Amino acid sequence: MKLLGNKTAIITGAASARGLGKSTAKLFAQHGARVAILDLDADAALAAANDLPGSGHMGLACNVTDFEACKHAVEVVLGNFPQIDILVNNAGITQPLKLMQIEPANYDAVLDVNLRGTLYMTQACLPAMRAQKSGAIVNISSVSAQRGGGIFGGPHYSAAKAGILGLTKATARECAPDGIRANAVCPGFIATDITGGALTDDMMTQILDGIPMGRAGEASDVAGCCLFLASDLSAYVTGSEVDVNGGSLI
Ligand code: NAD
Repeated sequence: MKLLGNKTAIITGAASARGLGKSTAKLFAQHGARVAILDLDADAALAAANDLPGSGHMGLACNVTDFEACKHAVEVVLGNFPQIDILVNNAGITQPLKLMQIEPANYDAVLDVNLRGTLYMTQACLPAMRAQKSGAIVNISSVSAQRGGGIFGGPHYSAAKAGILGLTKATARECAPDGIRANAVCPGFIATDITGGALTDDMMTQILDGIPMGRAGEASDVAGCCLFLASDLSAYVTGSEVDVNGGSLI
């Protein structure tokens, strides 16, 4: 059964080949959605879109920290597709810093992409979603928001991802009367480029010791959760945060 037939989805930060966004875009396309991939580099976004199953997908350059760029990207999508049914705010960066190592530029960069970008893309899509009286927004937070960091994210990353949880609930509350739902996904440790850097065996053992299911998550684990939250299967779910972490918080 295809869950997203005739739906249009925008997914930010979905050009990274091993990333959560790309995996989500692929699953959405398999379920019949037309997908617009937004990322920093136009060629990479286009290549990722062309790699999706089915046809008619789009790849666009959009820096989510730039509100005019977000608005422009949404205009281009609406020039090609009749409406925007789904927005997945997935673009994110992290920096493995301790509290005293965070310079203002670090703070700005991490807050800007993760939190400001989520707000800007939501603002850019809301007029269309409100006009059509429907929409599903999925914001990618992190277990770092819930447990105060981990090996990869610094305190500013935890703060940004916790901010996303508050923003998600406020969006859900304000937009419910407009027929728009907003939910957050909190991935745990997922094997992607963001986590794939210099991982020593000790770090990997430490990570896996904290996961009751005993394995790292796959991008497809997060994609499946995004599909549920984007589809009508979750028609009565809004303002929630869904953990995809192998039981890390039990
Ligand atoms: P990734 O680095 O593979 O992908 C992130 C993407 O965001 C990249 O394609 C990058 O180009 C894009 N991006 C960065 N800055 C941008 C900007 N200003 N505008 C537009 N695009 C931008 O990372 P990932 O692991 O796939 O992570 C995806 C999301 O999931 C992020 O929000 C991340 O914080 C979150 N997350 C990841 C994990 C994990 O373990 N991988 C865990 C929890 C949360």
